[in-house]
Amino acid sequence: MNLFDVYPLFDITPVKAQGAYVWDENGKRYLDLYGGHAVISIGHSHPHYVKRIARQLYDIGFYSNSVKMPLQQELAEKLGALSGYHDYSLFLCNSGAEANENALKLASFHTGRKKVIAFKGAFHGRTSAAVAATDDPKIQAPINETDNIIFLPLNDLNAFANALNEHGQELAAVIVEGIQGVGGVHMPEATFLKAVSAGCEKVGALLILDEVQSGFGRSGKFFAHQHTDVKPHLITMAKGMGNGFPVAGVLISPAIEAKHGMLGTTFGGNYLACVAALAVLEVMEQENLTENAKNIGNWIMDVLRHMPGVKDVRGKGLMIGVELNQPCAGIRKQLLEEYGIFTGSSSDKNTLRLLPPLNIGARESKVFLEAFESILLKAELAAV
Ligand code: PMP
Repeated sequence: MNLFDVYPLFDITPVKAQGAYVWDENGKRYLDLYGGHAVISIGHSHPHYVKRIARQLYDIGFYSNSVKMPLQQELAEKLGALSGYHDYSLFLCNSGAEANENALKLASFHTGRKKVIAFKGAFHGRTSAAVAATDDPKIQAPINETDNIIFLPLNDLNAFANALNEHGQELAAVIVEGIQGVGGVHMPEATFLKAVSAGCEKVGALLILDEVQSGFGRSGKFFAHQHTDVKPHLITMAKGMGNGFPVAGVLISPAIEAKHGMLGTTFGGNYLACVAALAVLEVMEQENLTENAKNIGNWIMDVLRHMPGVKDVRGKGLMIGVELNQPCAGIRKQLLEEYGIFTGSSSDKNTLRLLPPLNIGARESKVFLEAFESILLKAELAAV
């Protein structure tokens, strides 16, 4: 049987990983600045994480959601304490798409409405409502087509005000990424987010912050929108939450009535998922990873800004987009093949993404910066 062809693959077979490093079947070591697409938050196979999950599996790995699970409450409390959202409630599920699907559904339940404002370049996942709110017709099947989604340019206050005038009374939600990831690392401006939040309040729509990629400390705050004082009604998270274990969640404002039975999913909040997420939070706290993401990330961005051929450096903390004066595919290939460094692409062909583990140090960062600069210098010389 053939495997379904999901993604273009790196021609590498990782068999072992530790911290920011991955080894292939031939023992070659790679520096991982991609983190399995922003998933690896506390580093590969962190010893505390491995122990927590292994011990839990010895005791009990799974029972259905029909029993009491104090681990879920423990996770909700820890997440509340570290994120500052202790008055919100937590719905646990398994992926970023599922979290957004449920957030959109809750917004529709709550308002009784069905229109949603989303943004150009947005990626929210591949399930029906999430993919409909994703700005990529290539991944929308006919069954996902709907005229309920209005796509607006990010950070365009006039376009937002006009859309609110036209559709405000039918609007269930506005969904926006804390930092737009797949689209090429674009920040919603603080003034824009504030206006969006106020607009939602005015027309009775809910503000959904998709923190699937930008959350869990990556931006240098627990959630990227916390660089502003905006408080969304719903916050979705996944990726870094489980450091590789599939676990996701929706934080729900106390103002939203989420009735029993509205949401559900078999694997959501299972014992292993809860301990994986708890272990991530414990390591984030013990190792001060949000602070590290801020400090190391700012330093990396400053250095990148002075490199030849770099047009723009965007992002916050360790969610970094480097826009080059040329397509980045060849440069990423060289980084991988000549220097053993994984980096990420984006839907903008000139923008390369860095999404390393949050405990990456100055030493690993320097290895990358030197390699990157030398490739860029060579490319510049070749172009003369
Ligand atoms: N939202 C954002 C911002 C994402 O970057 C992604 C994944 N790239 C998703 C949602 C979907 O997450 P998942 O693949 O876990 O469904």
